Amino acid sequence: MAEIELRHIDKHFGPVHVIRDVNLTVKDKEFVVFLGPSGCGKTTTLRAIAGLEEIDSGDILLDGRPIQNLRAADRDIAFVFQNYALYPHFTVYENLAFPLRAVGTSRDAVDSTVRSVGRSLGISHLLRARPSALSGGDMQRVAIGRALVRRPKALLLDEPIGSLDAKLREQMRIELKRLHYENGSTSIYVTHDQVEAMSLADRIVVMNDGVLQQVGTPTEVYLHPANLFVAQFIGSPVMNIAAATVSEADGLAQVSLEDANFELPRELLGMLEQKHAAGDLSLGVRPEGVLVSHEARPGYRPAEAHLIQPFGGFDIVDLRVGSRTLRARTSSGYVDKAGDRVFARLDPAQAHFFDTRSGASLDIRLAG
Ligand code: ATP
Repeated sequence: MAEIELRHIDKHFGPVHVIRDVNLTVKDKEFVVFLGPSGCGKTTTLRAIAGLEEIDSGDILLDGRPIQNLRAADRDIAFVFQNYALYPHFTVYENLAFPLRAVGTSRDAVDSTVRSVGRSLGISHLLRARPSALSGGDMQRVAIGRALVRRPKALLLDEPIGSLDAKLREQMRIELKRLHYENGSTSIYVTHDQVEAMSLADRIVVMNDGVLQQVGTPTEVYLHPANLFVAQFIGSPVMNIAAATVSEADGLAQVSLEDANFELPRELLGMLEQKHAAGDLSLGVRPEGVLVSHEARPGYRPAEAHLIQPFGGFDIVDLRVGSRTLRARTSSGYVDKAGDRVFARLDPAQAHFFDTRSGASLDIRLAG
C-alpha cells in the first residue's frame, strides 16, 4: 500500500513562486503523470515528494504519515532521473546490485533480485556490460531497474525517456506501461509530452505556473478540459478557439465567430442562461469536431480549403469560413487540394464554451 497525499504545498525559489497551494492524492498503485510546459513546477513538485527539495509549507503524506521532515533516504521512494546517473565503472549487474548492497542485503538475495529485475526489464543479456557499451534505451532500463530493486513504496520518474529518439520513446512507453502493470507500484511521472501523458497515465495532473489546472483521466482532460489552458495544451493539432457570440436565429442557436456563423441546437441558449454566462464567451472545437462535406447540407456553411496537412491515416485541413480559419480533421484525401470549396459544420457534441476572462469551462454538453 502506498498512497501519496499533498496538502497545501507551497514553494518559492527566491521571488519565484514555483508551487502554489497544491493539493493532490495519488492512490495506491496509481500511475499519475504531471504534465505541463517547461518551468511550470513539475520537477520541483516531484523532487519535493522524494525529499530532494524542501517545501516552504504544507504536508506530504505517505500512507497517511507526514514525511516532509524525513531525509530522502528514509522515505522509501525511488527516483529515476532523465540523465540515467549510472556508475560508469560498474557493470550493469553492479549498478543494479549497489542499492541492495548499500543496505546490507545478503549475497543470494542480491543475486536473485538483480536477475529477476533484469529479466523483467529485458536486460538479462547485458548484466556484464558497462554503461558506456549500452544504448540510451538500455541505459534508461538499467536506471529504472536500479530504482526498482529495493521495491520502493513509490516510484517517481522525471522525464525518464525524454532524451531518447521518437521510436525508442514509443517502445519504452509500452515497456513502462507493462512494467507498471506487472509491478503495480504507485508511480508519478513527469513529462511535457502530452502523447506520453495520455498513453501512460491513469490520471493526468495538468500544471501551469505552479497551479494544478485539472486532474483527470486522459479521456476526461481531452473531452472535458476544465479551462482554456488545458483545452489548448492537450490535443494535437491544438483545439480551435475563437471569441463567440450566441444569439437566436430561426429557432436555433446561432454561434458567430466574427463573420462565420454556425448553427447549434437551441438548448444552448437555455444552458448559457442557466450558467449566467453573460460575459465574453470563447468557443472551442477540436479539429475532429469540425465536420466537412463536399455537398451543401442543412447546417453546413461554405468553406474554402487553404492548407492540407496529410498525416497518413487522416488529413488536417485549414478551412476558411468567412474571415476565420478553422482546422478540421478529415479522412485521408477527402479534400483534394488547397482552394477546393467544401461545406463545414460544428459537431454540437464537440463544442466547448469557456468564460474568456477567467478561462473556465462553462461545462456545457450538447447532444450530437
Ligand atoms: P522542466 O520541464 O523545464 O524541467 P518543470 O515544470 O519541471 O520544467 P521546474 O524544474 O520545477 O519546472 O522549475 C519551476 C521553476 O523553478 C522554473 O522557473 C525554474 O527556473 C525554477 N527553479 C527550478 N529549480 C530551481 C533552483 N534550484 N533555483 C532557482 N530556481 C529554480
